[in-house]
Amino acid sequence: MHGFSYNKGVLHCEEVELNALVAQHGTPLYVYSGGTIVDHFQRLDAALGGVEHEVAYAVKANSNLSVLRLLAKHGAGFDIVSGGELFRVLKAGGDPAHCTFAGVGKTREEIVYALKQGIYSFNVESEEELRYLNEVAGEMCLRAPVAVRVNPNVDAKTHKYISTGKSENKFGVDFEVIPDLYDRAARELPNILLRGLQMHIGSQLTSVAPFIEAVEKVAPLARELKQRHGIVFWSIGGGIGIVYQNSLESGAAEWWQTHTADDLPLTIERYGKELVPRLKDLGLKILLEPGRLIVGNAGVLVTRCLYEKKGKAKTFKIVDAGMNDLIRPALYEGHHAIVPLAQPASGERVVVDVVGPICESGDFFCQDRALPDFHPGECVALMSAGAYGFAMASNYNSRPLPAEVLVEGGSATLVRKRQTLEDLIAGEL
Ligand SMILES: *Cc1c(COP(=O)(O)O)cnc(C)c1O
Repeated sequence: MHGFSYNKGVLHCEEVELNALVAQHGTPLYVYSGGTIVDHFQRLDAALGGVEHEVAYAVKANSNLSVLRLLAKHGAGFDIVSGGELFRVLKAGGDPAHCTFAGVGKTREEIVYALKQGIYSFNVESEEELRYLNEVAGEMCLRAPVAVRVNPNVDAKTHKYISTGKSENKFGVDFEVIPDLYDRAARELPNILLRGLQMHIGSQLTSVAPFIEAVEKVAPLARELKQRHGIVFWSIGGGIGIVYQNSLESGAAEWWQTHTADDLPLTIERYGKELVPRLKDLGLKILLEPGRLIVGNAGVLVTRCLYEKKGKAKTFKIVDAGMNDLIRPALYEGHHAIVPLAQPASGERVVVDVVGPICESGDFFCQDRALPDFHPGECVALMSAGAYGFAMASNYNSRPLPAEVLVEGGSATLVRKRQTLEDLIAGEL
């Protein structure tokens, strides 16, 4: 489900016209559907109903305070990767006792902060980090609750920049050395509390097979660690992919026709149906760390066309959003459907590149794509921009960060102001 559709010829987010939001807040503008966020969270929660579990939303996908507040209100835990994200979760009313802290490079300040707040688990990525955590916790006369991240050496079959579960990736500890590491930690590290086991094999997985492979490979290890060390949870990570091809996009019908029942993209329900039976007899609490799945299709980036430039080889539509606002296409060839705010009257298409104003050739949102025509002054929505969109935005080219709006039913709330020029230089001396 996603909360964006044409109603009487104009694109809406839930019951709110995107045109009206643009008139009020300008462009580029991120718009999120609160209903979609909650729907995805609740459907995943329900799909895991057959096993004791907790959904810990991966904050890095979209860390706007209002998004976090909405998820906290509906009972989500949080997977964080920095002290800054912990700060945001606390500000949004999230419970630190339901936070897990991932990442290969935690600093002393971050560790101290998270220990003081009493987070649920440090998801540790190396023996060196484990020893350091033991030392810092010792100085504070505390025990640090820990899950070591196992690298199961499974191919997630996703873009190489977002694959994390192979031996050559920097993440986690090799599968084979985990039992010995837990044994030694139990013997030698008195300020470590072995609470769980964690894994995360990559992002934007569109097939359930790698998840099954990883769960089947690691389940015996989880069982062994429960027996030997009394661990109580196993986090199987995030990474559930979403469909970026959008039903509002030209060619959508053809796209769906090229997929058969077997290779249709992963659904939440299929994920639950395949994994719950493989998890439920372990007697462990199962944690999930979805980011993209919860927010990806719940957001769009609305941008206005500034110029049409007809070159010898190509036609460029130059829009007012750039790779600094949404970097996914430039960073890992991410696809975003591009949909006019005014429903196209005919099926006519033009082949264009949609590009931003940034001084980089990688600054494009699509190349050689057949789209309904649009003209300077008109707006389009870059669909499925709710995850790794604003969260990865920067001030590159000294461009102020865009505003963000959260829609719930018929009401729209500005949840982050557009940056001003003064904001750009705040903090510079
Ligand atoms: C990024 C990340 C996630 C979330 O990944 P999605 O693909 O957004 O679901 C979960 N766990 C860890 C450890 C991560 O680094």
